[in-house]
Amino acid sequence: MSQRRTFFEQVNAGFDRAVAMTDHDPRLLTQIRECNSVYHVTFPIKRDDGSIEAIHAWRAEHSHHKLPTKGGIRYSEHVNEDEVKALAALMTYKCAIVDVPFGGAKGGVKIDPRKYSVRELERITRRFTYELKNKHFIGPGVDVPAPDLGTGPREMAWIVDTYNSLSSGELNSLACVTGKPVALGGIRGRTEATGRGVFFGIREVCSLEEDMKALGLATGVEGKRVVVQGLGNVGYYAARFLQENGAVLVGILEYEGAIASPKGLDLDGVVAHRKETGSILGFPGATDIPTSRDGLELDCDILVPAAIEQQITDENAPRVRAKIIAEAANGPTTFSADKIFRERGVLVIPDAYLNAGGVTVSYFEWVKNLSHLRFGRMQKRYQEASNLRILSAIENQTAKSFTEDEIEKFGRGAGEEDLVNSGLEETMALAYLQIREIKLRYGNRADLRTASFINAIDKIAWCYKDMGIFP
Ligand code: GLU
Repeated sequence: MSQRRTFFEQVNAGFDRAVAMTDHDPRLLTQIRECNSVYHVTFPIKRDDGSIEAIHAWRAEHSHHKLPTKGGIRYSEHVNEDEVKALAALMTYKCAIVDVPFGGAKGGVKIDPRKYSVRELERITRRFTYELKNKHFIGPGVDVPAPDLGTGPREMAWIVDTYNSLSSGELNSLACVTGKPVALGGIRGRTEATGRGVFFGIREVCSLEEDMKALGLATGVEGKRVVVQGLGNVGYYAARFLQENGAVLVGILEYEGAIASPKGLDLDGVVAHRKETGSILGFPGATDIPTSRDGLELDCDILVPAAIEQQITDENAPRVRAKIIAEAANGPTTFSADKIFRERGVLVIPDAYLNAGGVTVSYFEWVKNLSHLRFGRMQKRYQEASNLRILSAIENQTAKSFTEDEIEKFGRGAGEEDLVNSGLEETMALAYLQIREIKLRYGNRADLRTASFINAIDKIAWCYKDMGIFP
């Protein structure tokens, strides 16, 4: 049944389940649910061999209740209009959940980036940016793209450069896109941000003894057996921070298959092995699982789907053995798989909360670009000097004499990356408290996804109500 629902319908099914528990005006809910605008463009590009190819690209702006709209641009051969609308909707709810002042958007270019040369990718990116600018679908106060599947700082650099050349003299033009290289107005910590946010979210969830007890698990991340699907930017950093904090990586899934080891896999060892051999399979000491999707059913405490949407369906959900599903990807669990998990008492940490670290740090980057000032530049040395004065006062008043290491540790002022990571940690912790509070308020009726939707819908509804548009 559920497999016939499109991705956007899946997202809306989750939305509808949540709104049934609220008493907002149905007309207002329709306004929130619908996608406000979609731009579909087809443009020709010249391939390196001289042939011409028509490229399809989309940008969906789901909600204009706050501006600019925000969301990544993905390069994937599976991109279609329904997908960008679904992902744009998830961005709207995501931004509301973590209190980032944007509406949601998403873009997609229907290409497999591995089949194009760097020069071809540059031509495609610059042309798409031109089309977006032309139709008013990009700008610091309009719509601000970022990296997503198949794109990264390099593509963002081409976007900002193209935008700049089309709007010379626009003071805030650097803020037209986030996830840029640091030298071009990016921010330290953005690359790792989504994975770091995933870790912070999992850590928050695992820190509550009562909730862990209900799952038959010990409190804390340490010792938890984790399986990660996808070693892209999000999956890699989520796995890395989990491992650094004592979790045991018992399985890794990639396109070519999966590998498992109950004793734990060395993440960087696997990455190096894949670079050398072209595959994660055959990693020394691990068991090969040739069909990647079978890896989702490995015995573990936490399953982290960090690849693409609709990986866990009503077909495989009954066989998933994890007690916690940590949705690092957007939309990895279908609506009916979600129902199975609710019935089985599996805890799903929803995407719209868990992977919001990326857009949170994008927000910091956007603010940095608008303020034209690096975070920490004004305070770092001042803070350092006052910390050193306190340390020396302690030394003068007591017999204590600080070591060089202690002086370095206690004395240093916060730089950009420290502040970004601290702001991200605060955001993920606070948002989880809000969601959990709603979940408790609604008793057994609300799971974490429903509570996240209620949280987002309430916040968006208030914007319309405060404008006097709806009662
Ligand atoms: N593409 C990322 C996401 O899905 C980041 C979006 C952004 O930073 O605007 O959340």
